[in-house]
Amino acid sequence: MKISDILVEKTPHLSFEVFPPKKDDEFTNAQNVLHQLSELQPDFISVTYGAGGGTSEHTVNIAADLRKKYDVTVLTHLTCVSSTREHVAKMVQKYKENGIENILALRGDIPEGGAPHSDYHYAAELVRDICIGGACYPEGHVEAANKTEDILHLKEKVEAGCEFLTTQMFFDNNIMYNFLYRIREKGITVPVIAGIMPVTNVNQIERITSMSGTYLPERFKAIVDRFGDNPAAMKQAGIAYATDQIIDLYANNITNVHVYSMNKPDVAFKIQNNLSDILGK
Ligand code: FAD
Repeated sequence: MKISDILVEKTPHLSFEVFPPKKDDEFTNAQNVLHQLSELQPDFISVTYGAGGGTSEHTVNIAADLRKKYDVTVLTHLTCVSSTREHVAKMVQKYKENGIENILALRGDIPEGGAPHSDYHYAAELVRDICIGGACYPEGHVEAANKTEDILHLKEKVEAGCEFLTTQMFFDNNIMYNFLYRIREKGITVPVIAGIMPVTNVNQIERITSMSGTYLPERFKAIVDRFGDNPAAMKQAGIAYATDQIIDLYANNITNVHVYSMNKPDVAFKIQNNLSDILGK
């Protein structure tokens, strides 16, 4: 099913994310993750694309399994900045051969020392080649001079053909509401999926804070201070915080929420369970 058709429905939606294993022998574990996530019958599952494309075969295989073995709607990611046009065309062909209708077109992070190819510079160029969704940043992308400029580039990406957008994670919903107001004002009207990251351990927070620009509200910091050294309590509090954010989004009519479930089906299960009556599942 095309995700753009799901997103225009008025009912609340919930989707999850998996990432491909880095080594071949981790594939069996990935299969368990796929099985457990598909049991939750999410609206779709996204499969990330390793930076630089080194694990692209795994992305294809996982997406194909989700589609064929588990009958799940899939969104496969594809980055372009470290690829040639030829490689990108080959990947799109493989996705099509495996019945995958939805692609999230990304530039990818520029590797240290610069990108090895110069076929693509921005995601908009990839969007022009294929039909799909794109990424957006409620707090502004780290390389953008300011939010206004970032939104102007986002508009170019949407005009190039993006049918929907998925946000970077955020921990304060007001940032999302403000972003939506600003992009709608600039004429960006495609559906926007809110990306929510359940933070379940302290290491994750260290990674997030090293990604400049992600604002951590005081309420969130208090949870980390109080429960950070108690893994079980931190996990429970992180799931509750993410659930709270999702309920607030649904209540404010943002019906499309994507959970960065990070190959943790138990976290996905608990969040979905917390929302069972809201989702009717
Ligand atoms: P772009 O839309 O190209 O934007 C990148 C920067 O360029 C922005 O600052 C923008 O303002 C600026 N810009 C755009 N057009 C122009 C222009 N014409 N002139 C000047 N500046 C311009 N990475 C992975 O490696 N694999 C994944 O699977 C993956 N999944 C992701 C999923 C989501 C939902 C998100 C939010 C990010 C994901 N990323 C992934 C990370 C992403 O690749 C990086 O954030 C990357 O740095 C930007 O990619 P983009 O597609 O948003 O780039």
